[in-house]
Amino acid sequence: MKPAAFGYHRAHDVTDAIGLLGEFTAAGAEPKVIAGGQSLIPMMNFRLARPDVLVDLAPLRRDPALTAIRREDGALRIGALTTHRAVEVAGSALGSGFGVLAEAMRWVGHLPIRSRGTVGGSLVHGDATAEWCLLALLLDAQIVAEGPRGRRLIPAAEMFHGFYTTAVAPDEVVTEVRFTRPAPRAALTEFARRHGDFATVGAAVALVTGASGTLTGGRVVLGGVAPAPVRVPEAEAVLAGGIPGPELFDACGAAAAAAVDPPTDAAGSGAYRRRLTRTLVARALRQAWEKGNTE
Ligand code: FAD
Repeated sequence: MKPAAFGYHRAHDVTDAIGLLGEFTAAGAEPKVIAGGQSLIPMMNFRLARPDVLVDLAPLRRDPALTAIRREDGALRIGALTTHRAVEVAGSALGSGFGVLAEAMRWVGHLPIRSRGTVGGSLVHGDATAEWCLLALLLDAQIVAEGPRGRRLIPAAEMFHGFYTTAVAPDEVVTEVRFTRPAPRAALTEFARRHGDFATVGAAVALVTGASGTLTGGRVVLGGVAPAPVRVPEAEAVLAGGIPGPELFDACGAAAAAAVDPPTDAAGSGAYRRRLTRTLVARALRQAWEKGNTE
């Protein structure tokens, strides 16, 4: 399949990209930035997206700020053009409390996709099962968006509005993602029919322990059960003050399954997704607990 006709411009830097987006929008055209192209190009080939013009961010990869991974004030800052693969190979270099980001990358498509697709692209694309979207909610990410009105920080909790819809405006460029909440006991797991496919359901969890090692709370994030990734407060409430172990983790999985109303589509029925939710939440909690605080 081939995309509809479109214009093409290469941006020199972020300012240039914002200028081009503003110029085309003002002229009544629908521009779109392209980063790794691993979601946008398939969407265009299927004619699900028909931008009039693409503004290519590829030359901006030369800007170290857009591909850097660094710690600052306890947070982890990742340039928006950083590839999934770069995060995967960074591994323990991400630092204490952020290992789950590298571990989760193995679930993202196949190696060629991970080597081209970007962190920023994944978040702006906003697929409800995308690993980066779940991780953003899990670790309180702030998405840095720059546009004609200046720079703003979008909290992950305000980022995902529904099917492939996010808070990033059409004339904005995401330049960085800041993960502000380290979580040493965190895990992401999922089920897909074939290796490399988007998940049918994905679960990301983090356990919070007190000074004496007791469980003081946790976070449960799900993908594939709603039009956007969601936190599940009903499941999180089960964890607070509980005694960690299979019984608690199963109860938390059951609470998560009871709280969601998943859609039915070609990948699975709502009832099937509910059963997956129960199993995957309990499994992710076990994995998170087994990690301990030694990461
Ligand atoms: P692009 O495709 O270039 O862009 C995607 C969208 O984001 C577009 O709307 C674009 O305008 C916008 N955008 C991109 N960058 C920016 C920016 N910096 N600022 C503002 N807007 C921006 N992903 C998963 O998460 N999990 C999977 O399991 C998975 N499996 C895949 C399997 C296949 C076969 C394929 C082809 C893709 C798969 N992907 C999966 C998608 C992949 O992770 C993409 O890399 C990612 O979703 C988008 O990143 P990108 O850089 O390629 O963005």
